[in-house]
Amino acid sequence: MPTRDAWQWPLPGAQPVREDYLVFGRPDIREEEIREVEATLRSGWLGTGPRVARFEEAFRDYSGARFAMALNSCTAGLHLSMIAVGVTAGDEVITCPMTFASTANAICHLGATPVFADCDRRTLCIDPDDVARRITPRTRAIVPIHFAGRAAEMNRLTDLAQAHGLKIVEDAAHAIESVHQGRKIGTIGDCTTFSFYVTKNVITGEGGMVTTNDPAIADWIKVAGLHGLTQDAWKRFSDEGYRHYEVIFPGFKYNMMDLQAAIGIHQLARIEAGWKRRTQIWQRYAEAFADLPLGIPPEPPPGDRHARHLFIILLRIEELRATRDQVLQALHAEGIGSGVHYRALHQHPYYSKRFGFRPDDYPNAAWAGERTLSLPLSPRLSDRDVEDVITAVRKVLTAAAR
Ligand SMILES: *Cc1c(COP(=O)(O)O)cnc(C)c1O
Repeated sequence: MPTRDAWQWPLPGAQPVREDYLVFGRPDIREEEIREVEATLRSGWLGTGPRVARFEEAFRDYSGARFAMALNSCTAGLHLSMIAVGVTAGDEVITCPMTFASTANAICHLGATPVFADCDRRTLCIDPDDVARRITPRTRAIVPIHFAGRAAEMNRLTDLAQAHGLKIVEDAAHAIESVHQGRKIGTIGDCTTFSFYVTKNVITGEGGMVTTNDPAIADWIKVAGLHGLTQDAWKRFSDEGYRHYEVIFPGFKYNMMDLQAAIGIHQLARIEAGWKRRTQIWQRYAEAFADLPLGIPPEPPPGDRHARHLFIILLRIEELRATRDQVLQALHAEGIGSGVHYRALHQHPYYSKRFGFRPDDYPNAAWAGERTLSLPLSPRLSDRDVEDVITAVRKVLTAAAR
């Protein structure tokens, strides 16, 4: 039997599936966005202003939350949300290692300790049973991630939070369209943070949003995101006449610009059309890969809606003579870009050294982290693009099967 070292791709003289490279996460930018950005530039008002207000209103309506505050990233939103719910130095905050760095980095920024609870192997969302085991008297908050667009088990997490007096900040970077048991993501936890980074379901280049139903939190985040200046300080140069602002506390420079909101307004208007297209692609992938040595994402339970943000395959590497990274490289050689979401955070140098984590402390996250591969799922993909992805994945995995 050939060894992993013997794996070679592409085979000499072989033709790749595509000559024109298919990038992972191609943004869906249309004429509306381009015209709105141009109009913003011509208006002379580039910074935080009327377009941010419009985008916040549209997002608030879409999410069903009482308040929506636009910021320059989801990371900024996580930071402010955790301060807003009272996380301070020395507290413990429970989150999942199967996430992007910023979820746990934001906890570290506050001098709090990230305490990881493992993910479920099937859903890749945080396992409420493991959360329960990790609660201590120092625990202040839980930060679940709605992984790939699948809602975490919010009913169970909310019960735990209530029983132990904990706050919930949801990392909904993947989950703008998600619903959990009939409730829209954005309306459940104390704060919910969304991302409009270029690969997300709604984009503004860089950008984020926090939703909450709590007016005090909403007011505080508005002020904290703009240096701690009194409300609506951005209006100070408007034609309503000059008004002094006052500094209430040393806040942060986290405000979104109108230039960013100009893109977001039109992206959000098309959100359901994008979701429908990604759902079609998702179903095509799911049927095309059913017989391959890989796990495909399980469908959400009745009453939930999946945001279809990432189509993740979990390679059955025991049945392959290539590693995940070799499969990724082979797809690259075939002209298909893919992504890794994520190599488990507890195995990254900072977290493993600072907190002494070993890979098997979170066996499910470590297991998923070396098998996971995300395939292109942009609504911009043509049917031909989708078939090329399928052809390339089948070609590589058929050759890699032991
Ligand atoms: C993208 C992402 C973030 C960070 O979002 P930014 O807007 O880039 O700050 C946080 N958490 C998860 C799970 C993400 O995918």
